[in-house]
Amino acid sequence: MNGSKNQMELEHILEEIEKRPELATIFNRLEDDTDLRALFMLHPHELFMSSDGLIIPYLLSVSNTDVDKSLVLSLTSDIDFAMFQKAYRTFLFQIKNLPRVFLDLFAYGAIILARTNEEINDLITGDFSFAKMRSVLGRFNIDEVWNEVGNKINVDDDPSLLQVKKEYEAEAKNWEKRVKSNPMKFIESLLDMQIPNIRISIHEDAGSHVGSILKKLEMNMEEYNRVLSHLYGLKLIKRQDSIFRCENCIDDPQLLKSSSMIGPNRMTIKCPRCGQQMSYSAILWIDELLKDCLLNKDGLLSVAVAHILKKREINFKSSVQDEKFEYDFICETKKGKVLAECKVHRFPESERSIKGSIEQDLRQASKHMQALNLPSTVVIYNYDLEKYKDLVETGTKKYGIDLIDISEAPDYFTSFIKL
Ligand SMILES: [Zn+2]
Repeated sequence: MNGSKNQMELEHILEEIEKRPELATIFNRLEDDTDLRALFMLHPHELFMSSDGLIIPYLLSVSNTDVDKSLVLSLTSDIDFAMFQKAYRTFLFQIKNLPRVFLDLFAYGAIILARTNEEINDLITGDFSFAKMRSVLGRFNIDEVWNEVGNKINVDDDPSLLQVKKEYEAEAKNWEKRVKSNPMKFIESLLDMQIPNIRISIHEDAGSHVGSILKKLEMNMEEYNRVLSHLYGLKLIKRQDSIFRCENCIDDPQLLKSSSMIGPNRMTIKCPRCGQQMSYSAILWIDELLKDCLLNKDGLLSVAVAHILKKREINFKSSVQDEKFEYDFICETKKGKVLAECKVHRFPESERSIKGSIEQDLRQASKHMQALNLPSTVVIYNYDLEKYKDLVETGTKKYGIDLIDISEAPDYFTSFIKL
C-alpha cells in the first residue's frame, strides 16, 4: 500500500517534532525502546479498537484482560442514567446547531401527529393531567409513531413540502459529507457529547482489545503499562475516562467513575465496600499530532523513517510520483541514492502469510528500483523480522533488495553516512 505522508506533510511533522521536546523524546526512543516501538508500529487497525471499520482513536489502559463483559454492563447501567442526563443536555445544546429544516420537519411531524392521532388530539383538546399524558404517551412506541406520521404526510396534499423535501435532502447530504470526510472527528464529537453507549462499549471491549495486542506482541501488562506511563509522563496522553469496578462485590456492584487524569501507575483504588483492589479500564486521549501520525495509512512507520533519516542528515524526497509509480523515499547518501519503501502490514498470523507479502513487496520494490535505475533499494517492515531470517535471506538474494524491519533502520542508514 502506497499512502505515505507527502513531502510537505512530513516536513511539517518533522518540524513540529523538533519544536516539541516530548515528541522528539518519543521518536528518539523509538530507535531503542523495543516495547514502545512494537506497540506504535502496529497496523492502525490493530493498535486501535474499531467499530464498523471506523477507528476509535484512543489508547486503552486496563487492569486485566479477562473482563466479564456482563459484569461491566450491569455495573455501568447504574451510571447510564446520570450520563444520559448529561448527554441529553449536550444534545439540546447541539440541537441549536442543527439545520433549520430538521427542526421544522420535527415540529411539522409533531403537529401532524397531534392533529391526526385521536388519543394525542384528546390530550391537547380534552381534560388534561400529567398522569393522563404519561399513561397515553407510555403506550406509544417512538418508531411506530414516526412511521405513522411518515405515512400521513403527503406531498400531494401540501405542495409546499416539495421545497422542504429538497432542502432536507440537501442538508442530509451535507451532514453525510461531513461525517464521511472526517469519520474520526465525528466519532470524537459523539464521545465528547458523552453519549453513554459509545463509552460503555469501549470500556466493555477494552480488556479483550488490550489482551489481543499483548498476545500478538508477546508483551506483558507491566511492559504495556510502562509504555503508557512514559507517554503520560511526557503529557502525550491528555485526559481520560476511567471506570473502576469491584469484581468481588457482585451482589452489590461497586462502581466509580473518573474523568480526570490519573497516572497509569496510580490506578490503584480500593473498593469502598470490601477494601479489595478495584479493576479498571481507562480511555486515553492522545496528543493531536501523535494521533495524526499513528492514524496515518502507513502508521507511524513513514514518520519514524523520515525522523531516522533527518537525524542522520540524509536528504530525502518522500512520496515521489512519476508516470508509473509512487516511491516512498528517495534518499541522497554519501554512497549514492537509496530507494526506501515502507510496508505496514498487520501482524503475520502464519509463516505462509508473511512469505506471500515478502514476495509481493520485493517484486514491487524491484520494479520501482528498475524504473529509477538506482543501485540500492531497501524495503522496511513495521514488525520484527527476526523470526523470519530465512525468508528474508531468500527474498533478498532473489531480488537484490535489502529487507529490514524498523528496528534495523537506524543502523542501516548509519552505514550510508560512514565512508
Ligand atoms: Zn468490593
